[in-house]
Amino acid sequence: MGLFNVFFGGKQENHAPTDGGISDPGPSVKIHPSVDAGVQAGLSDFAGGSLTCQCTTNPVKVKVDAQTAHNHVCGCTKCWKPAGAIFSQVAVVDRGAVSVVENADKLEIIDTDAAIQRHACKDCGVHMYGRIENKDHPFHGLDFVHTELSAENGWSGAEFAAFVSSVIEGGVDPSRMDNIRARLKALGLEPYDALSPALMDAIATHVAKASGALPG
Ligand SMILES: [Zn+2]
Ligand SMILES: [Zn+2]
Repeated sequence: MGLFNVFFGGKQENHAPTDGGISDPGPSVKIHPSVDAGVQAGLSDFAGGSLTCQCTTNPVKVKVDAQTAHNHVCGCTKCWKPAGAIFSQVAVVDRGAVSVVENADKLEIIDTDAAIQRHACKDCGVHMYGRIENKDHPFHGLDFVHTELSAENGWSGAEFAAFVSSVIEGGVDPSRMDNIRARLKALGLEPYDALSPALMDAIATHVAKASGALPG
């Protein structure tokens, strides 16, 4: 997935036909535990919470002092996902709102060469936050977080599905893709094979301003 490597190294159960005439296969097609029973909308006055890794002793705790944005399910092979899920669920938040408050010594960066430096727990493998250190990156200033690691309710809900075709790279049989896309649409998660148009436009605008094709 070239683009991916460049930049990242409500409840509907009506089984109605979606685009392309493929019916919603229903919850038997598991996308991610946070959306399989319907997407939970965020609360407008929600101001953040804390994320905890899956260690039963001395878990890593990360405080996020803001509501997240652009929450989505992601089919890439880099994002952390819970066991058995085809997609991860990941959102962005201002990096200034993210702080490690407990057991920071258990964190390590998965791949220091990747555009997104994923800080993961050495013991349980959960990614606690992904940070972009390259100041020229379109998304510099935003951290990537998995809100399912929080016990609080009110985080922004998933809005779309990104890098859907990439689930095949993770081992999903291509014959399942029609059902997976139909399920995503039934959940209100429009499937895209890169990011959503709004985010792709933001990236392209950043690139055009950097190259001079658009005024800075
Ligand atoms: Zn852990
Ligand atoms: Zn991803």
